[in-house]
Amino acid sequence: MESVVNSVSKSQSSVEARRRLAYFNERRDEMVSTIRELVEIESPSDNKAAVDRVAEAVAHKFSQLGGKVRIHQAKKFGNHLQVDFDFPGKSAAKAVLLLGHYDTVYPLGTLATMPCRVVDNTLTGPGVLDMKSGIALMLHALAALQNWYKEDWHEEECHGVLPRPVTVLLVSDEEVGSDSSRALTESLAKKAAAVLVLEPSYGFQGAVKTARKGVGEYFVKVTGKAAHAGLDFQKGVNAIRELARQIEKVSSFTDLKRGLTVSVGIVSGGSRTNVVPAEAAAQIDVRIARLKDAAGIDKKMRSLRPFNRKCKIEVSGGINRPPMERTAGVAALYAQAAAIARELGWKLGEAAVGGGSDGNFTASLGIPTLDGLGAVGDGAHAPHEHILISELPRRAALLAGLIEGV
Ligand SMILES: [Zn+2]
Repeated sequence: MESVVNSVSKSQSSVEARRRLAYFNERRDEMVSTIRELVEIESPSDNKAAVDRVAEAVAHKFSQLGGKVRIHQAKKFGNHLQVDFDFPGKSAAKAVLLLGHYDTVYPLGTLATMPCRVVDNTLTGPGVLDMKSGIALMLHALAALQNWYKEDWHEEECHGVLPRPVTVLLVSDEEVGSDSSRALTESLAKKAAAVLVLEPSYGFQGAVKTARKGVGEYFVKVTGKAAHAGLDFQKGVNAIRELARQIEKVSSFTDLKRGLTVSVGIVSGGSRTNVVPAEAAAQIDVRIARLKDAAGIDKKMRSLRPFNRKCKIEVSGGINRPPMERTAGVAALYAQAAAIARELGWKLGEAAVGGGSDGNFTASLGIPTLDGLGAVGDGAHAPHEHILISELPRRAALLAGLIEGV
């Protein structure tokens, strides 16, 4: 095969783009089987042994590409995986960070009712979209770049050579808030030129995500006083009634114009109908579009006071992920991605979404971050989760172009 590299330079020609697309089209089945392999190792966030198993399998695949594998041990959660692909010579080029996770929201055994299989143009299975296909895209894009570039290098240093340094970080706890991996994600992001997040794309047009809301979780616990609802009604202090009033209060903090929402997601309380309840609690989801709204909503949540002074209120929790805002750096990355997509023959859209990812951490540090570079599909976290197989080649080509160019 003629060297693909020589005609690439920094700007891809459309001839080159077509050749790259053809390259990935020829390898579509290989991509599907990589994804299938990963989906078939179930990895719920709360099962360390299971997540460690998928980490091992993924580590092996990256080491076959010549990456330097580093396992970051985590006690409570699965281990995190860092893979470095160095750049030969003395280039001071910064690495690009490819970011993702291998934990899923599905308990062990889900494959029995939700098998990984090909149906027409779709591939189904737990975590296939969010985001095991994203990991497969990383592997295939890196392998392709090594293949395309190897003729640019001398024989002895050609194994596993990429056009620039690349770091891959895959974490084990993204679906449960990333507490154990956040510091690692932030430290690697700070050294990177840009962060490419392989979370699922948005919609069937496969838009990338240039803004994500920040996410907070709060717990409100109300303590009243138990009493017999018939004999001693007046001695009781009804915690559920107090909580009901607090729910109305916190719900009123929603400000749709600012993209700020407060949603009470779980409530509990009481023991029996004939007992005035002494306890009630709510778990509350908070989303913010702008970092500058974080302090305000946090203060409001913490300033909740009981309507009934005989009740006690405890508020805990906080803003867990800052929003990913569409900064100039993010917009520039998107423009670059859109230009690569144009060469590949499609119009790449962008979307602002309500869900958070680890891209929120990196973007809020000011590191240019582009999210939603993963597969195209639907049903993340749902029984119908699937990806569109026909979209895989151009997603891989887009990723390869970005790794090379940012
Ligand atoms: Zn995800």
